[in-house]
Amino acid sequence: MKAAVLESYNHFEWKDVETPKVKPGEVLVRIQFASICGTDMHIFPGDFHPRTQVPFIPGHEMGGVVAEVGENVSDFEPGDKVAVDPIIWCGECPACQRKHYPACTSLKLLGVDMDGGFAEYISVPPHMLFKTAPHLPDEHVALVEIYGIGFHANNRAKTKEGDTLAIWGAGRVGQVILQAARTKTNGTIFMVDPLENRLQIAEKYYENLIGINPKKENPVEAIKRHTSGKGVDIAFEAVGHADDIEGVYTPVRSCIQSLRGGGKVCVLGLSDEPSPIVFKELIWKEAQIITSRVSDGEFTEVIEHLNAGNLKPDVLISKVMPGSEIQKAFEMLQKEKEKYLKVLLDFR
Ligand SMILES: [Zn+2]
Ligand SMILES: [Zn+2]
Repeated sequence: MKAAVLESYNHFEWKDVETPKVKPGEVLVRIQFASICGTDMHIFPGDFHPRTQVPFIPGHEMGGVVAEVGENVSDFEPGDKVAVDPIIWCGECPACQRKHYPACTSLKLLGVDMDGGFAEYISVPPHMLFKTAPHLPDEHVALVEIYGIGFHANNRAKTKEGDTLAIWGAGRVGQVILQAARTKTNGTIFMVDPLENRLQIAEKYYENLIGINPKKENPVEAIKRHTSGKGVDIAFEAVGHADDIEGVYTPVRSCIQSLRGGGKVCVLGLSDEPSPIVFKELIWKEAQIITSRVSDGEFTEVIEHLNAGNLKPDVLISKVMPGSEIQKAFEMLQKEKEKYLKVLLDFR
């Protein structure tokens, strides 16, 4: 089969490798599309070394069609359209024993800790596969994983009908939090981002959505003004870094400031830097800080909504490129990452 092998950091090769053998208890999937994630952009130059070991095949957001079923597998047959959940829990650590899988202390991912889906085939156990409706476009199946992040965040924050939200960061993660949130509440949603093109995407496709550019106005003041001084029920931090924007805000603290009393902040941004917050501002509201990491069984929920047409996957897809052009795709994203939401690779 052909695969995109990261031969050395910053260098992919599109080459022939051995097609995986289907072991008993496994299913061989013919990958149709895979999506490039922010994590892949960090793996590419070696930020994840030594966790990643080159040469290997990255890719953890992928969908395809069952090509072959190994012995002792009964739930799948060739031709089934499937999304692949790339997460491998250990099942034994204290978090796993309490079924709190995203906090697994030795959580592993296909395409990070072992070969992944930037290839024509992958062989995985059936519990990592989720069937979609046959009518779902192949491109959309590759987005199930990232939608899982958005649904998991909403489930962690317990978003419910009538809730008003503020989503800080309108990039890939912010956009899937928004789409997932819209299956749960018709309340006003504020999106905060300094990039106008991202705000426009959200405003164009969703009603009762207010985009706020922190370079033009103070977002906390704007949210207060639009909510008659009350603030929102839930604020999601999907900015991903602790930096303030020209002194206007620091992401987590501004989330707290934009809440109503008793509200919740759900933090997703993975920053290595400390994020300053003033606990008095949190305590006076008796507000809660919740965190959200990867997903936990949300694949089923995502697929139900995709099958029913409740999500807008095409909004997320900025560009589709052939798998053979992976090197070009990564260089393009390195140069102009703000221009794109999801870039998909076509392995058909
Ligand atoms: Zn990812
Ligand atoms: Zn574990």
